[in-house]
Amino acid sequence: MRPAKRIETLPPYLFAEIDRKVSEKRAAGVDVISLGVGDPDTPTPAHIVAALKVAVEDVSTHQYPSYYGMPEFRRAVCAWYQRRFGVTIDPDRECQPLIGSKEGIAHLAVAFVDPGDAVLVPDPAYPVYEIGTILAGGTPVSVPLPAEIGFLPDWDSIEVPAGAKILWLNYPSNPTAAVATIDDLERAVAFCRTHDLLLAYDNAYSEITFDGFTAPSVLQVEGAKDVAIEFHSLSKTYNMTGWRIGWAVGSPVAVEALGRVKTNIDSGIFNAVQRAGIAALEGPQDFLGDLRALYQRRRDRVVDTFHDVGLKFEAPKGSVFVWLPVPAGHDSASFATLLLEEAGVVVPPGRGYGPSGEGFVRVSLTVPDDRLEEGLERVRKAL
Ligand code: PLP
Repeated sequence: MRPAKRIETLPPYLFAEIDRKVSEKRAAGVDVISLGVGDPDTPTPAHIVAALKVAVEDVSTHQYPSYYGMPEFRRAVCAWYQRRFGVTIDPDRECQPLIGSKEGIAHLAVAFVDPGDAVLVPDPAYPVYEIGTILAGGTPVSVPLPAEIGFLPDWDSIEVPAGAKILWLNYPSNPTAAVATIDDLERAVAFCRTHDLLLAYDNAYSEITFDGFTAPSVLQVEGAKDVAIEFHSLSKTYNMTGWRIGWAVGSPVAVEALGRVKTNIDSGIFNAVQRAGIAALEGPQDFLGDLRALYQRRRDRVVDTFHDVGLKFEAPKGSVFVWLPVPAGHDSASFATLLLEEAGVVVPPGRGYGPSGEGFVRVSLTVPDDRLEEGLERVRKAL
């Protein structure tokens, strides 16, 4: 048996070493608190769960779904974009439902990247942009996101290799928690137009923002649909990570190409889940205010704790993470190890999100209040 060479070229599993240490600690009886996972700890709103129950009882949902998603779900997504961003999207040509945005992010490379093609990948970033590129036989090219300019690309310093296909961007960002303004996205669209790149914009955290900041969609930029596709999902907005439902919207060429890959690989999203998705998008939205307030309160607790022990950084305006600069004398792995050894607290080292993630660790806000408080109390004592 010989697995493919492309599997061998995948970067090592980010958290393998830390997982091993956590297992050791737990085996030794330590009550390890993980501030590592970005997965909402509060439940999906009840009206969405209720919609799923009704839909599951309807036997017409039990057969294969359409490859292109239910027309009603596509229309609900497009109506949400109109309400939320003032952007008009054609539900038939410019919207492709996804089995979670991760699936679409990985498959976009299959649709656009030929062996040897370059893909510009932010550094640090959600790892799937790079992995998807590698699995499609492409070459990821790092675009460093310097802390000094708010973890945005330094546009003038980017060298675009000949024949590059895609530029990935993600704000509010995992892992840096940085946000982008509409001016930043205008710059990104102009850059991709100049260099004939598909701008693949990951807006998974658009609804999780703080201090009054409202995150834009890249499709709000004039003419963006010529060059951009935006990925989104119900995962973080409605606490639906386990349900696996998202979408891509934007350039009809990109949407069609992605859809063509998917028709050959998967068979769509369970129709009952799509009906629940419609309930999420069209139902009461007041839940979101509470969710933002919850994460903002936790963010403040994390920021205060690490400010008090001497770390200097600004409170982030979005996502479910805080991106912490490590103290002098540490690198990201040694600081993560210190927190595990001295406080029994797990955080992923920033290096795992790309070379420019060195010097940072990521703290997740999706941790129940009591566990977060205890973790932070132990951090105060340890540092
Ligand atoms: N994009 C970013 C930046 C993420 O952090 C995640 C998940 O953590 C995803 C996309 C994937 O989300 P989903 O596949 O649940 O829609």
